[in-house]
Amino acid sequence: MNSLYDVVIIGGGLVGASLAAALRHSPLKVALLEAGHWSPPDAILPSSYDERVLALNYASQRILHSLGVWEKVSQLATPIKHIQVSDQGHFGKARLHCEEIQLPALGYVLAARQLGQALQQTLQQGKVGIQAKITVTDFKQHPDFIELQCLQQGAPRVVNSRVVIIADGSDSQLREKLGLLTTLQDYGQTAIIANVSLEKSHQYTAFERFTAKGPFALLPLANKDCSLVWTVPPDSVQAKLELSNREFLAALQREFGWKLGAFTQVGARHAYPLRLVRTPQSVSTRSVVIGNAAHTLHPIAGQGFNLGLRDVASLSDILLTAHQAGQDLGSVAVLNAYAAIQQPDQARVAGMTDSLVQIFSNNLPGLRHLRGLGLLALDHCAPLKQHFMRQMTGLNAYPSRLLCGVVEK
Ligand SMILES: Cc1cc2nc3c(=O)[nH]c(=O)nc-3n(C[C@H](O)[C@H](O)[C@H](O)COP(=O)(O)OP(=O)(O)OC[C@H]3O[C@@H](n4cnc5c(N)ncnc54)[C@H](O)[C@@H]3O)c2cc1C
Repeated sequence: MNSLYDVVIIGGGLVGASLAAALRHSPLKVALLEAGHWSPPDAILPSSYDERVLALNYASQRILHSLGVWEKVSQLATPIKHIQVSDQGHFGKARLHCEEIQLPALGYVLAARQLGQALQQTLQQGKVGIQAKITVTDFKQHPDFIELQCLQQGAPRVVNSRVVIIADGSDSQLREKLGLLTTLQDYGQTAIIANVSLEKSHQYTAFERFTAKGPFALLPLANKDCSLVWTVPPDSVQAKLELSNREFLAALQREFGWKLGAFTQVGARHAYPLRLVRTPQSVSTRSVVIGNAAHTLHPIAGQGFNLGLRDVASLSDILLTAHQAGQDLGSVAVLNAYAAIQQPDQARVAGMTDSLVQIFSNNLPGLRHLRGLGLLALDHCAPLKQHFMRQMTGLNAYPSRLLCGVVEK
């Protein structure tokens, strides 16, 4: 038999790489298999380490700190101290402030590319065997291990593992092969992202504005810059991408108004079609699906990677505890222990994000009134606000070692 790993992680995107970082100093024999390139620090990266900008919640900052990643990016991250949620053209506004839950920030803003590079740098230390340009095409489940069939630059290879962690992204082929029940829902919306500069300071505020065509967000960056996530119907994407910078800025100004003065500059624009992917049962024989492969969310609430990182924190906890107890890492008992912790979190966050999209992308007059009242209630009812903020910051999640700051050396 080919050499046997304890854990093989399929996919070196942000979630798979985070799990590898969590296990890098453990006694486990771990491999990370990535279909794309992997050449630290500045060469070609996996395609998902792109220019999208991530709002990392407070729990993610703590997990990344425990992983030894945060110290590499803290100077590049911008804190979110306030969040303002509004409904375009209607009454009601909710304002959330970090002081209200005694935190230095509600979250931090960082480019996915910068986080990817920091993860790669982190993985230069430790014992994870990283293999790039290798695609897992199929697998066979044996009683004691899984046999992975792979293609590495055209040549067939076999890799065996006690347990396989599938982090191959939203279009996961392997999730399909496992036969896990998956629901897919196209939102009929596309997110256009770009960095923009403004006349006035954002004061470390994230603006979330709901419009009839889809939500619109501005996340604070250094100086007077912001990261824009503008959700539009698919049939208007091409036209928006082809506008001159001047025309695009004018369209943006009409949508957002003059609260922060004039929009003065816009960087490169990128488009992402949006959909919801849910896998209610994320474990199968000797395998677990995590990250975007298990749940792909609308970016409206900026929760996709945050949730994926909590998958990582819970799973690494379970695997390390099982190893210490001498348990088989791929056993039903071990994988069910992970599912019991993480599936409720996944269901809650996916449900909450989807409800926001459905409620705020709907222009029925009664509903408009209700959501105005909802925003007012959120703004004025302290217990409701506290609950919502704890949910958004990820602090009511399972208290994994990484979330609680227990560092594996
Ligand atoms: C516009 C936008 C804004 C967002 N904003 C936020 C935000 O503010 N906050 C937040 O928390 N989240 C946000 N997200 C979500 C976040 O980007 C994703 O949740 C995260 O990047 C998912 O990472 P992943 O590792 O699960 O998947 P991916 O990044 O898709 O990585 C999968 C990896 O698996 C590899 N792979 C695929 N198949 C195979 C195979 N067969 N064999 C080997 N390797 C394979 C791929 O090459 C890839 O590198 C946003 C998303 C979008 C689109």
